[in-house]
Parts: sequence; structure tokens; C-alpha cells
Amino acid sequence: TERPAAQVLSGPPAAAALLDEASRRAARLPRPPHLALVRVGEDPASVSYVRGKAKKAAEVGLSSHVHALPEATPQAELLALVAALSADPAVDGILVQLPLPAHLDPEPVLRAVDPAKDVDGLHPANTGALWNGHEGLRPCTPAGIMALLAHHGVSVRGQRAVVVGRSALVGRPVAGLLLNADATVTLAHRATPDLGAVTREADVLIVAAGQAHLITPDMVRPGATVVDVGINRVPTGDGRERLTGDVHPDVAQVAGALTPVPGGVGPMTVAQLLMNTVIAAERQHALMPEGPGEHVR
Ligand code: NAD
Repeated sequence: TERPAAQVLSGPPAAAALLDEASRRAARLPRPPHLALVRVGEDPASVSYVRGKAKKAAEVGLSSHVHALPEATPQAELLALVAALSADPAVDGILVQLPLPAHLDPEPVLRAVDPAKDVDGLHPANTGALWNGHEGLRPCTPAGIMALLAHHGVSVRGQRAVVVGRSALVGRPVAGLLLNADATVTLAHRATPDLGAVTREADVLIVAAGQAHLITPDMVRPGATVVDVGINRVPTGDGRERLTGDVHPDVAQVAGALTPVPGGVGPMTVAQLLMNTVIAAERQHALMPEGPGEHVR
């Protein structure tokens, strides 16, 4: 007997709700929150991501500025810009678009961002705060995943959560957020033997491996909630390519709920970036009308 197909955990309505909240809270501040977007070089994907972030910021009533530096920018010059933005009281959030050109070391650049303005949540002070369960700015995709689950009424408290992938950007921080939300968390990765035995334990399975269709139906516990973070480009055979996730589409026959790709986690990241900018601005104004809110815990 076939199970009914999984509930679709759709991203766009959850992102719209997050953007609405960001917009509403921004409007209460003495001035629009300001996001400084720093990019180096002309990598087409980075140019397009930064443009998209600035456009969305304007849509929700945030101000932003794109600081576009030439490809050959020396490390010291980039560090000086980030330090100046960190010291500027008119700037609430700073985002350095990664990857940087190969001659630049991202680590010192990320450390030069004032942790209070670190809207990407990648400064060691913020990653430490996340792991210690302290207040801080949280990485956008992981916090966006938590907002997506909350929007669709999925509670992780007391649930067994398995995260596949341990990157600094997604796997590790989402594991920290799940732990802070009272899930029992397992982190699996490339060196995990018998991945299926681990993922079958999950009530909530978060997959961020960057491997198309890594997770097949036999690896999923019936009724589990599955979040597919993967964005993989696969050839369609007619010379074009399409986007697909890390989760095989047939998992919809086993899972209780599943995020689509595209249209799942994807739209949450930019929405959370703008929410983080509003949170940073609220804290900067020492004005927290509604407390820290569920999106930052
Ligand atoms: P990454 O390459 O930095 O990390 C991948 C992780 O997956 C590693 O920790 C690795 O150990 C693990 N892994 C790889 N193959 C595995 C396997 N066969 N079995 C078990 N574990 C395996 O990638 P990332 O930056 O974490 O991104 C992961 C995916 O999420 C990518 O497809 C990326 O495009 C996507 N992504 C989406 C968003 C978004 O939706 N906004 C944001 C960030 C990343």
C-alpha cells in the first residue's frame, strides 16, 4: 500500500512571512536598517547574488550599498574597508560575498567584521555563541531552515534530528540550531559508514551534502520530515541543465513532509539575511520591541 505523498514544505510563503516581519520591525526603527554588501571581482554568480540581496533589501524598506572592489584588490585594502564599515554607526549589517578571489584569505576578512554587524553569522564570536546557546547573529541558510520548519508547524523539540554535511556554512550551524531547539542531534558526513542506517533514525533529516539524489527512499524513516538543502546542476540531456536537490524525488513517497528544490530552502536565505540586518539594527538602537524573537535562538 502506498503512503500519500509527503506534505510540501514550500519556501516562498515562509520567506514572504519572514520578509513581512523584517519589514514591519524595520519600520519601527528611527531610520531604515542599512546593509553594506561587499564584493570583490566580477564572478557572475556573486554579482547576481549581491544584486538580488540589494533588490530584496529595498523591497522591504532596508537601505543598502554595494561596495564593489576590483579583482586585484589587496588583502589590506579589503580589511581596511571592512574595518571602516564596522566602525561606521550608519551601518547596521555587513556582508562580504564569498567566495573571494583566490589571492584573498577570507578568514581575516570575516574576523574584521564587527560581530554585532555580522549578518552572515560567520564570525567566530557568533559561531561560538551559537554552540554555547548564547544570543548572537545566526548563519542565514541554517536560521532560514528553522524559520521554514516553524512556518509549517514542524517542532523539533524532543525529535531525533540527523544532519548530513558538516560545512561551516550549513551543516554545523544547523546542527547547533537544532540542538538549541531541543532536538537530539547527529551529524553525518563523507566519512560516515552506512549513511542509511544513520539517516533512518531521523524524525527530522536535514541534507546539505551537495550530492544529487544522495538520499534515496530506503534511507528515510516513513513519516520523517526531510529538508533538502542541496542545489545541484544536472544536465537534462538536451544540452541544458536543471536544478535538483540532494534528496531523490521518490522520497516524497516515504517522508511525511519534504522541501522541494527549487522552491524550498532557497528563498529563505536572503529573507533571513534581511531579518538578521533588522535584528542587528534593533540591537544597535538598543531597541528590542519584541525581544530576540524565535528566528535568532
Ligand atoms: P560543502 O561542500 O561545503 O559541504 C558538504 C558536506 O557534505 C561535507 O561536510 C561532506 O562531508 C558532506 N558530504 C559530501 N558527500 C557526502 C556523502 N556522499 N555522504 C555523506 N556526507 C557527504 O557544501 P555546503 O556549502 O554545506 O552546501 C551543501 C549543499 O547545499 C550544496 O548543494 C549547496 O549548493 C547547497 N546550499 C544551498 C543554500 C541555499 O539553499 N540557500 C545555501 C548554501 C548551500
